[in-house]
Amino acid sequence: MANIASLPILLKELKLAQFSKSWEALSQKAIDEQWLPQAFLAELSQQEVSERHHKKLQRFLRESRLPSAKRFEQFDFNALSGATKNQIMALVNKIDWVKKANNVLLFGPSGVGKTHLASAIAYALIDKGIRVKFLTATCLVQALQAERASLTLVDALNRMDKFAVIIIDDIGYVKKTDNESHVLFEFIAHRYETGSLIITSNQPFSEWDSIFEDNMMTVAAIDRIVHHAKIIEIKGESYRKKQSAKGRESIEDDN
Ligand code: ADP
Ligand code: MG
Repeated sequence: MANIASLPILLKELKLAQFSKSWEALSQKAIDEQWLPQAFLAELSQQEVSERHHKKLQRFLRESRLPSAKRFEQFDFNALSGATKNQIMALVNKIDWVKKANNVLLFGPSGVGKTHLASAIAYALIDKGIRVKFLTATCLVQALQAERASLTLVDALNRMDKFAVIIIDDIGYVKKTDNESHVLFEFIAHRYETGSLIITSNQPFSEWDSIFEDNMMTVAAIDRIVHHAKIIEIKGESYRKKQSAKGRESIEDDN
C-alpha cells in the first residue's frame, strides 16, 4: 500500500488542486460519519470538478474584457423597441448559431442599448462555457495593424480562433482614412465560417463604404458577415435621454 505521507506530493503531481485542499478535512468528516470509501472518493472528485469549472468560468470572464455591469440583470427590456426580449433570449437559450459560427448584427441609433445587449448576451454565453472576446472596432483595428507591422498578423488571427464569439463594437467608428483599415477586412474574411461575430453599428450597411477601402471590399465584407447572420434592429431614442426626460417629468410632477 502507498504511504499516506506521499499523498500531498502525488496529488500535486496529478494536478488535483482541490483534492489537495480538501482531502484532510474531508477524510476526518468521512471517518466521523462512517462514509463508504467510494462516497469519500466521489465527494472529492465532485469538488475537484466543480472547482475546475468555476475557475474556468472566472478565466473566461477575465479574458473576455466585457464591460462590467452590462448584464441582463441591469437591462430593462421594457425600454427596448424594435427587438423583443424573446428574440434576444433565444440567442442565449439556443446556442446553435455559435456552434455554426453564425453572426449576430445589432443595428440602431446611438444609446439604444446595442453595446449593453451584446455584452449581456456574451456574459450569458460565458456562463454556458463559451469563450468570448469583447473588442471595440477601433481597438481591434489598432491591434491588428500592430501585428501586421511586426509581420505576425496571421498568428494573431489564428490565436483569436479560440474565441467562439468575438464582439466588434461600433464597427462604424473605423474609417478607411485610418492607415490600413483593411486589416479589418482580413479579420472578417478569416473569421468567416470559423467563428461567430457579434457586431454593433450605428450605421446601416449603405454607409459601410466609409469603413472599407473600396466598394468591392465593402460588398465582400458585408457578404461574409450577412451570410448566416441574425440581424436585429433596435429602434427608438437613446436610453439615457429617455431616462433624463423621465427624471425631468417627475420633478415637474413634484412641483
Ligand atoms: P449603444 O451601444 O446602442 O450606443 P449602449 O448600450 O452603450 O448604447 O447604452 C447606452 C447607456 O444606456 C449604457 O449605459 C447602457 O447600459 C444604458 N442602456 C441602454 N439601454 C438600456 C436598457 N434597455 N436598460 C438598461 N440600461 C440601458
Ligand atoms: Mg455602443
